[in-house]
Amino acid sequence: MRFISRLAFYLSAIAFFSIISFAQQNDVDKLPVNYEELTSPDFIKAVEKSNGTCIIPFGILEKHGPHLPLGTDLLDAREKSIRAAQNEYVLVFPQYYFGQIYEAKHQPGTIAYSSDIIWKMLQETCDELSRNGIKKIIIVNGHGGNNNFIKYFCQAQLEKRKDYVVIMYTPVGNPEVQKEILKLRKTVDDDHAGETETSSILAFRPDLVKLDKTSTQSGEDKKQLDGLHDFFAGIWWYAKFPNHYAGDGSPANKTLGDLILNSDVDQLTKFIKSIKKENRLIDLQNKFFDEADEPLKTKVK
Ligand SMILES: [Zn+2]
Repeated sequence: MRFISRLAFYLSAIAFFSIISFAQQNDVDKLPVNYEELTSPDFIKAVEKSNGTCIIPFGILEKHGPHLPLGTDLLDAREKSIRAAQNEYVLVFPQYYFGQIYEAKHQPGTIAYSSDIIWKMLQETCDELSRNGIKKIIIVNGHGGNNNFIKYFCQAQLEKRKDYVVIMYTPVGNPEVQKEILKLRKTVDDDHAGETETSSILAFRPDLVKLDKTSTQSGEDKKQLDGLHDFFAGIWWYAKFPNHYAGDGSPANKTLGDLILNSDVDQLTKFIKSIKKENRLIDLQNKFFDEADEPLKTKVK
């Protein structure tokens, strides 16, 4: 009898702890990917579940032709990041639009912060993420005008020892999907707010696309520096597309947008998986800092 009551006690204890651990597992399964939606206690679980990995979807506020919203690049980068993070858990940082966009200052709605502010903002955001246990920071950039800034920022992370790594996501398009995109695309010149970008927004926020306005302004290349080769100057974009419209958004369609969105999400999901289990970036960075602290010692070896 005593044995049976002890057995009953153990069985009910096991059942009790199984229910608790099931509930805890359920909590972890349901953690939101959006940083701003987590509670502080859940944030601790999210850092663990993400293996200390957070995406900063990086956009900008600038004109996108006469028909797309100012936040197009941010909306796009965030949509892809959130969908990919739901496939493979990582944290997704809130709206981040503190980037390089001087070339659009003449267009209404542009927010162009000074260069020292955008640098400090990004560095301190990374420092603060690290202080909170995030050691792998992935930048998913949606704005072409940020590319040079982000790459230099990543290079400059070697200036001083850090206990985290900043990784710019630089995907090479899937060649099979590229072929399909080319088959579907109707325009040849297709860039800023053109057929592809307009289709991408149509795929997930059709309510924000004013397709009837696509032809109210010109998206053609003005070629104001035609004949000048082998140069780079900040004014290059203005010389070509002062309207902040490059191409023609009118043939945009959801089929093309879905193809691009799904392919981008697949590719980003695979990338997140690889980064979550990757330790070499941080290990090599640490080794580099050790050697950089005492370069003469390194040379003797
Ligand atoms: Zn854009």
